[in-house]
Amino acid sequence: MARSTTHRPYISSRAAALHGNSLGELFLLARERGAIDLALGTPGYPEPATDIIEAAHEAMRAGRNQYDHPSGDLLLRERIAEGLTAPTDAQTELTVTVGATEALCVALLATVEPGDEVVLLDPGYEQFRAAITLAGAIPRFVPLRAPDWRFDPADLEAAFTSRTRAVLLNSPGNPTGRVLERQELDRIAGLAERWDVTVICDEVYSSFVFDGRVSTSIAAVPGLAERSIVVGSLSKSFAISGWRLGFLRADAVRTEALRRVHEITTNGAAVPLQVAVGLAALSADLRTANEEMGRRRDLALEIFTGMGMKIAPAEGGCFLFADVSPLTGGAMDSRAFALELLDTAGVLVVPGGPCFADPARGEQYVRIAFNRQVELLSEVERRIRAARPAD
Ligand code: PMP
Repeated sequence: MARSTTHRPYISSRAAALHGNSLGELFLLARERGAIDLALGTPGYPEPATDIIEAAHEAMRAGRNQYDHPSGDLLLRERIAEGLTAPTDAQTELTVTVGATEALCVALLATVEPGDEVVLLDPGYEQFRAAITLAGAIPRFVPLRAPDWRFDPADLEAAFTSRTRAVLLNSPGNPTGRVLERQELDRIAGLAERWDVTVICDEVYSSFVFDGRVSTSIAAVPGLAERSIVVGSLSKSFAISGWRLGFLRADAVRTEALRRVHEITTNGAAVPLQVAVGLAALSADLRTANEEMGRRRDLALEIFTGMGMKIAPAEGGCFLFADVSPLTGGAMDSRAFALELLDTAGVLVVPGGPCFADPARGEQYVRIAFNRQVELLSEVERRIRAARPAD
């Protein structure tokens, strides 16, 4: 009798536990219908600087096409260090990575043991939970409370145990737009010291903070600084998300460990692209980009509150996290709402469920990216008005 040749590959439990991108199907629909995508954080604003693009061509023509120092181009590391609020030694405390995405995985792999617990705020960036799972660790969520997405200090304290190895923060936050205040960071610092844990903070949106706020890096907060790993990115600030350039900033001892992991994961980011940003970054005007991003936040707020959503203005970053229950009356979940908006107005937003540990908590929220050209946002406004004529 012939034996079945069907081969079922063994998939590791870590890989099997990953869910993949929750947006896949919506994206296909949106593309088919020529919808405006306000779902992804992919920058439509600012434009990548032409001198960076020229410098990349130049670096390739000049022969910078082979392996180089895995820790990253030194000139780029020096430029990154100049832009950080905490004094940073580019030689010993900075590592250039393949986006913040690699940086996050490297930070976790270098810090946690399988079975350790990682404390994180909820709702949060979907990939945090996945990266923690991939590292074999266990997420411990601290709920942020609507409408202003702050944590209750008692919930924070209750999340720490003797199994906690790290805290994973994100400020300015995706999807909430929260910029963690000094008092909140001090509270986290107190617990991090008490339980002797590492604090990893994803600061990829640090160039975008609004209404006169400053974004405080954890590397500049006493009590956090000495136990911090900052995850950074050039994707948003320079609008080069496809170049896949990010970085890790940590003390020299942690940096040695991070670099050993980084040598295994990627052994370095694209050399000519690093060289290009290193040479040209000084000319990019981040202050103007921040002001312009604030204008876009205001415009998006006007459009979507005008439509009837309830939204706490984003303090930083590039997303609004909007409560759609005034529009749905609770009769529709966030996915159904996103599908309806896609159908009626041709605008794609992200259903809130996957941002929460318990997706049911996200059923009344959608995430809206506003890092787009003003003309595109105006077209969104036109489409929404046309779809919902005033009654
Ligand atoms: N962290 C957060 C909070 C993000 O929103 C994103 C992009 N959506 C990333 C990291 C990924 O950054 P990178 O492009 O540098 O990998």
